Amino acid sequence: MIFLKKIILILSIFPLALCQENLDPDVFPRPLIIEINETHLQEWPVEEVQSQCTSWRVAGEANNLNPWKTIPEECADYVKEYMTGKGYALDLQRVSNEAALYARSVDLSGDGKIAWVFDVDETLLSNLPYYAEHGYGMEIFDSMKFDEWVEMGIAPAIDSSLKLYEEVLSLGFKVILLTGRSERHRNITVENLVQAGFHEWDKLIVRSLEDQGKTATRYKSEKRNEITEDGYQILGNSGDQWSDLLGSSMSIRSFKLPNPMYYIP
Ligand SMILES: [Mg+2]
Repeated sequence: MIFLKKIILILSIFPLALCQENLDPDVFPRPLIIEINETHLQEWPVEEVQSQCTSWRVAGEANNLNPWKTIPEECADYVKEYMTGKGYALDLQRVSNEAALYARSVDLSGDGKIAWVFDVDETLLSNLPYYAEHGYGMEIFDSMKFDEWVEMGIAPAIDSSLKLYEEVLSLGFKVILLTGRSERHRNITVENLVQAGFHEWDKLIVRSLEDQGKTATRYKSEKRNEITEDGYQILGNSGDQWSDLLGSSMSIRSFKLPNPMYYIP
């Protein structure tokens, strides 16, 4: 029965994949949405759940998973443990340390505008207090509830990112913040960033009305195009989503922060 379901799903997805791929291969590297609830296909023995969830998480970080809306049900405890235990913090630190090593190796002696782009959510600021109340990715994203959280302006800094941010600033990079948050959240985002310790940037780019509805990959690509047209050279980019990093005007080096809780195309 499961085998039959898989065949039906594969057959039903194939034309959609072809159709979406033809839209614009530079901006949409993959089909945007594949409506599979994979959890219905998984039958993991109890003793395998830990390993399977690690495998799923690594596949996600490596950008091998097809677009997904919620974490696999079986991985609810695993993801919670990862996010609240040492795993997440260590992975964040490693990314920051490697990024800092690279940042120090860049020649900044010229008079060019050398930029480091940072995403905001789950990159500079942590929404973990919000996701703790919403199943660490088990619930389908609710933009209204999330907006209420954003409007409180109390998201804490991700410490390892704050350290990297301070270092790239002191090295002489121009910092550009590029977030999927909307224009109406600009002021509260600034307040939140400042109270969390982020106090300086060349640009804070938020989604304007005309950017609404665009995928993050497209929106961020377009904004990076504008940044480079503005004379900046993007040598570093930090983000928790591949859509922060891929597309056009990509950074010379990109640093993917861990995030097993949600996926943004
Ligand atoms: Mg983010």
